[in-house]
Amino acid sequence: MTATNPRLSRRAFTTGLGAAGALSLSPFGTGPAFAKAPLAGTQVPAAARMKVGKIEITALCDGYTNLNEKLFPKANEARAKELRAAAFLKPGEMPIPVNAFLVNTGDKLILIDAGNALNYGPTMGHLPDALEAADIEPEQIDAVLVTHVHPDHTNGLLTDKGARAFPKAELIIQKREHDFWNDPAKLGGATPGMKRLLDMAIPVFKPYAKQTRMFEGATEIFPGIRSVPLFGHTPGHTGYMITSGTDTLFVWGDVVHLAPFQFAEPEWSIVYDGDPDMAIATRKKTLDMVATDKIAVVGAHLPFPGKGHVVKAGTGYQFVPSGFEPAL
Ligand SMILES: [Zn+2]
Repeated sequence: MTATNPRLSRRAFTTGLGAAGALSLSPFGTGPAFAKAPLAGTQVPAAARMKVGKIEITALCDGYTNLNEKLFPKANEARAKELRAAAFLKPGEMPIPVNAFLVNTGDKLILIDAGNALNYGPTMGHLPDALEAADIEPEQIDAVLVTHVHPDHTNGLLTDKGARAFPKAELIIQKREHDFWNDPAKLGGATPGMKRLLDMAIPVFKPYAKQTRMFEGATEIFPGIRSVPLFGHTPGHTGYMITSGTDTLFVWGDVVHLAPFQFAEPEWSIVYDGDPDMAIATRKKTLDMVATDKIAVVGAHLPFPGKGHVVKAGTGYQFVPSGFEPAL
């Protein structure tokens, strides 16, 4: 493409540059009257497309949640301060997005994770708006692939009335993840935190029970989509490697929660890691793999649209975001 987009440039001139020019050139110091617009105070629905060979992926932002340093028990105070400063994070400010990814293979529409619904407050639960922005109806989704059963990934499988949010979709999940959250015996000795997670997880499965497919370990889920066990964050936490032609994208779920901390310090587990030692080992192995093999990743909590590359930096790693991809 060599020519500029005539629609864009004309619009920019008439509504932006043209108006600004009229204002600054006015000999009387007053420009034309502009109507006031109220501040929106909320973000617009966020959806962004990317391509992996012939497969189209749409990142969908469900919203955000705010973390704090107490959630990283291994964080060293001085180093945390340094990393916060390097990321220009203001005190008390540690927002992470909650992203899901819609994969269009040309044959099937597959949603990877489903967001949080609105039961954690108004900052999350906006996946339906993002889907609408992407011009996709929930009824069109053929399958929901789950990375793991935590509220910000699976609560959105249900509507606020407890019905299926994706009425025609098959639910596809790593068997050991499914079995862990479907063992009612666990409720007996569960800590209050775990009981809360179980209370939210159990109802999610029932409406999909007749259309649930379980798989084990690393296997092909659909042509071009393979599961990759990333156990540790939860017992069956799983990533999905998407391949088309020579192009690859690794949907890695929750390998990293807080980019400014955990790329530089992969040992800083978050308290939500069910098995912190295993989660650390998985994170280090995964970071090494994607950095060595230069594999692009998307993450549920990486800066929206969640895509980038990982490079080795010092004793840890650095995330190089891809940003918005205007051309597909
Ligand atoms: Zn998560």
